Amino acid sequence: MARYCGSVCRLCRREGEKLFLKGERCYTGKCAVEKREGGPGQHGRGRQAFSNFKIQLREKQKVKRSYGLLETKFRDTFDRASRAKGVTGTELLVLLERRLDNVVYRIGLGSSRRQARQIVNHGHVLVNGKRVSIPSYCVSPGDVVEVAEASKKNPLVIAAMEAAKSRNIPEWLSLDQAAVRGTVNSVPTREQLPPTIREQLIVELYSR
Ligand code: SF4
Repeated sequence: MARYCGSVCRLCRREGEKLFLKGERCYTGKCAVEKREGGPGQHGRGRQAFSNFKIQLREKQKVKRSYGLLETKFRDTFDRASRAKGVTGTELLVLLERRLDNVVYRIGLGSSRRQARQIVNHGHVLVNGKRVSIPSYCVSPGDVVEVAEASKKNPLVIAAMEAAKSRNIPEWLSLDQAAVRGTVNSVPTREQLPPTIREQLIVELYSR
């Protein structure tokens, strides 16, 4: 499976905002967005031209990078969203949020989506008691997501759980901290999804 191997802080600097790709470091003064102004590279501080296309493209790149997807997978998700009954932009965000790696991150079993994906890939996560190692697995209401018994002492998981205590868990999910077990209460509504995302721009971009 193809994946991005470059600096993730560079991606945040390109978008000009924090995408929280690096776990705890993102909440400290070491964050590259706070320390260095402008985009990455030699011309990062140069004058920027903003066409409609560029605004739409940047929004798409921001969302795609936040959820850690490459273009093909992101486009596949968009195509699924456009075949769904609801509003395409909202359906896209809902499908992204329902990914297993995102849910593991949201309930605090991983300090970033990248780490959550690694935890899933390595087979540490059970859904309804069965091991699932597919990060794109789409969870449904009532699903129980937990760390396998043998993995509960994994230092990665313990550190992530500790760090996540200060993060809020969205209403559509709940966590039993003692049992290291999360439950999907419902499908998220638009109001429960990140308010800063302008998904309509992504729909406009892919409709060109
Ligand atoms: Fe982005 Fe986190 Fe790096 Fe800051 S520390 S630039 S939020 S990945």
